[in-house]
Amino acid sequence: MQLEARNVSFGYGNNLILRNVSLSIAQGEHVGLVGPSGCGKSTLSKLLAGYLHPKGGEILWNGKPLPSRGYCPVQMIYQHPEKAVNPMWRLGKTVNEAWKPDDTFLESMGIEKAWLRRWPNELSGGELQRFCIARALGPQTQFVIADEMSTMLDVITQAQIWKLLMDTIEQRNIGLMMVTHNMDLAKRVCSRIIWLEELNNL
Ligand code: ADP
Repeated sequence: MQLEARNVSFGYGNNLILRNVSLSIAQGEHVGLVGPSGCGKSTLSKLLAGYLHPKGGEILWNGKPLPSRGYCPVQMIYQHPEKAVNPMWRLGKTVNEAWKPDDTFLESMGIEKAWLRRWPNELSGGELQRFCIARALGPQTQFVIADEMSTMLDVITQAQIWKLLMDTIEQRNIGLMMVTHNMDLAKRVCSRIIWLEELNNL
């Protein structure tokens, strides 16, 4: 089981951001993706999760392209949870569109049932991020990409959110790629650090 980028190139318009980038991450592995701002970490994350499609090369999950419809086994958690949910949908509709979590799961993620009737702007930033983490952990999830997911939160909430995510992914042998500027956090959480600039053949 592995997530792989094979000779992936991508640009916005004519502006090439990634050239012939190759990497491979095993399912249960926890890796950090680091590099200076603007070097293409978020772009590579979106390619690996199937939100963008490479201009050259391919993204493979267990040797096959990611499914083009239905629930993707590679899920993303973003820096700004309020941008990752539809502001016009109550949270129940948002999560049920992805999958149907039961009460036990919601409780284990610290999500109150009453939240599902609320609008996204009726939760705090930390609560909404917790909701987005839960949404990303459907039964078919095998790999999670966390793109600066705790950067906007206070230190205590950051620690709570990371513990919640790590407990679940370790229990279920879900892989993790975390995108971060925080090398201390990356070293604590990850067994391997990937420097994007070293892989990029620009
Ligand atoms: P990082 O995550 O490493 O900070 P990004 O992948 O967000 O880098 O961005 C890489 C480059 O691509 C930046 O120069 C950014 O301005 C540009 N970029 C990102 N998204 C878009 C977009 N939708 N349209 C045009 N350029 C973009």
